[in-house]
Amino acid sequence: MLSNRELSRYERQMLIPDWGKSGQRKLKKAGVLVAGAGGLGSAILTYLAVAGIGNIRIVDSDRVELGNLNRQVLHTDKDISRYKVDSAKEKLELLNPDIKVEAIKAKITRSNIFKLVGNYLIVDALDNLPARLLLNRAAMKTVLPLFHGAVYGFEGRATTIIPGKTACLRCLYQDVLPGKIPVVGVTPAVIGCIQATEVIKYILGTGNLLEDRLLVYDGLSMKFSEVKLKKNPDCRDCGNTADLTGKD
Ligand SMILES: [Zn+2]
Repeated sequence: MLSNRELSRYERQMLIPDWGKSGQRKLKKAGVLVAGAGGLGSAILTYLAVAGIGNIRIVDSDRVELGNLNRQVLHTDKDISRYKVDSAKEKLELLNPDIKVEAIKAKITRSNIFKLVGNYLIVDALDNLPARLLLNRAAMKTVLPLFHGAVYGFEGRATTIIPGKTACLRCLYQDVLPGKIPVVGVTPAVIGCIQATEVIKYILGTGNLLEDRLLVYDGLSMKFSEVKLKKNPDCRDCGNTADLTGKD
């Protein structure tokens, strides 16, 4: 049930066709894991929280550093050296006290990934490929969707992975991306908002998702383009011979 407060809070979005009270109840019941409370995470978490996603789980092992603050807008100068998940949880609860926010200080590993995911939708707001691929395997194994986003400078990309249906992250990325990447804060904001939009649409069951479509954003030329994705039949995670039980 939605309280009077919630009916007021979400009034404007419930006016959207296919949303209404029933859509809002779906969001309230939903659980979403956001892996990473950095630049992408700041945008994703903010907009999932204000939309009324009822159960948000944040996982990140890092503490806030000064060099994060050009893009990680959930954290402020006063949060420097605090755990990002604590800082993020505090801000999200201020934004929307009607949702539950869980803060988990942990590095994503092969041994904790399934516990972290549980039965939650998975949002990739990470900055390194090995951990992204752990999310990918967990998504394949649990058959839960994975909402991917990545940024580099003024450029970003996003896609939505539906296990058993679309290409997966390992079909897309073979090589490890470089370590410290250049980023301007507006880019993860754009891409994070696209990922959050996809999560909301998925839960509501409305619109067309970025399935087998890699949306590429170029902030310098201010153009969006799309790359068609294809499942790799030999993919170790989603291909015909995939073995998700074995070692990486
Ligand atoms: Zn694959």
